[in-house]
Amino acid sequence: MRILVTNDDGIFAEGLWLLVKELMKVGEVAVVAPDREQSAIGTAITLHQPIRARGVRPLLPITEAYAVEGTPSDSVILALGKLLRSKVDLLVSGINEGANVGSDVLISGTVSAALQGNRYGLPAIAVSVDALRGAHLGNAARLAALLAGKISSGYFPGGVFLNVNVPDLPLAKLGGVRLTRLAEGSHAESVKEGNDGKRGYFWLVRERLSRNTDGTTDMGALAQGYISITSLDSDLTSKTPLANPDGLCDELFRGLQHGEQ
Ligand code: MN
Repeated sequence: MRILVTNDDGIFAEGLWLLVKELMKVGEVAVVAPDREQSAIGTAITLHQPIRARGVRPLLPITEAYAVEGTPSDSVILALGKLLRSKVDLLVSGINEGANVGSDVLISGTVSAALQGNRYGLPAIAVSVDALRGAHLGNAARLAALLAGKISSGYFPGGVFLNVNVPDLPLAKLGGVRLTRLAEGSHAESVKEGNDGKRGYFWLVRERLSRNTDGTTDMGALAQGYISITSLDSDLTSKTPLANPDGLCDELFRGLQHGEQ
């Protein structure tokens, strides 16, 4: 199995190389990742300037490692479209320092890189640990390798796209593994104001909402000491249909025609 590893914390982040170390036991690993931190960049891709990539000396004995002057999604697109010499079977993104739960998945560079892999038809896993400067990233790395093995053996459907969050706890303190759904809230942004001595500025500050304790959600599982695995897909279509959609469509179009007169 050929595994592409990327992240949004930058190519030399500790979490990425811990992941590589474990994934090397189950497949052949290549790394293509941003040359610097790109957290919260979401699904952004670079269209209005050139993107440079350079081979870097890998921290572990793998044959291909490239640093990309771009986003996590740029890295995946370059890796699959140009840089890598052979076909990739699985994409793993992480290990991110900081959980990516609930609506975080919409701004997370880590999850977006996995989404990009999924758009290219690859099975993809995003892996995050629930701490900045976590002390127990090894659990997340080993779990990713176990999931990679499951994907390799055909356990999951082809289009599988998993978002994995691991509490920053020693193995003995972990409660287990739960399959979850995304929590409804995760963070709220507030706006702070300041002045740099010349001009005023705004600064967006993200604060985590009070812990969601519903154990069937990703946030709740983490709060209870469980590893959370959420199966995602890229279809954002609302599951709740609009009331009387035909009537609404007719009314909108009639309104448009009426305004024209
Ligand atoms: Mn990050």
